[in-house]
Amino acid sequence: MNVDPATLEIVHFPAPILRQKARTVDPKDENVRAVAQRMIELMHESEGIGLAAPQVGLDWRIFVLAGLEEDEPDLVCINPSLTITIPEVTMREEGCLSLPGIHVDVRRPDGVQLDAHDIEGDPFTISDRGFRARVWQHEYDHLEGKLIIDRMSPMAKIATRRALKELKAAYRE
Ligand SMILES: [Zn+2]
Repeated sequence: MNVDPATLEIVHFPAPILRQKARTVDPKDENVRAVAQRMIELMHESEGIGLAAPQVGLDWRIFVLAGLEEDEPDLVCINPSLTITIPEVTMREEGCLSLPGIHVDVRRPDGVQLDAHDIEGDPFTISDRGFRARVWQHEYDHLEGKLIIDRMSPMAKIATRRALKELKAAYRE
């Protein structure tokens, strides 16, 4: 399972890996840490605020999150699980590094608790609502093979049809 982090790059829809359910990894594994570190770099290079392992071609249960405030560190989440704490749904526009050019309104529960292992392999629990909770759910979806285009309204489906078609064409080239 050794992966060279230097070979990783962000993959776009409709890459089949984006539809796979990712599998649990060893949070103490050196290679897992190296990959997570590289994912943080790739996320920043692409000006993303989150990135999940399937987006770099790996079926591993890892995502990384960018600190959203000045002193907030980036966060590695290995084998994460989510628990809904505030089931009331809110809607907000989301984009995805694997779906360039596509932005759609997505409804999600407002608050969640996130349990995961950090880059040291140590377990942690955090809980939030609003924007952060939304980002966590977006990234977690990737580990289940789900994308924002699975959660969009029929109207958005029509609006994004052309962009999706173009992504499919680009992928075959
Ligand atoms: Zn995404």
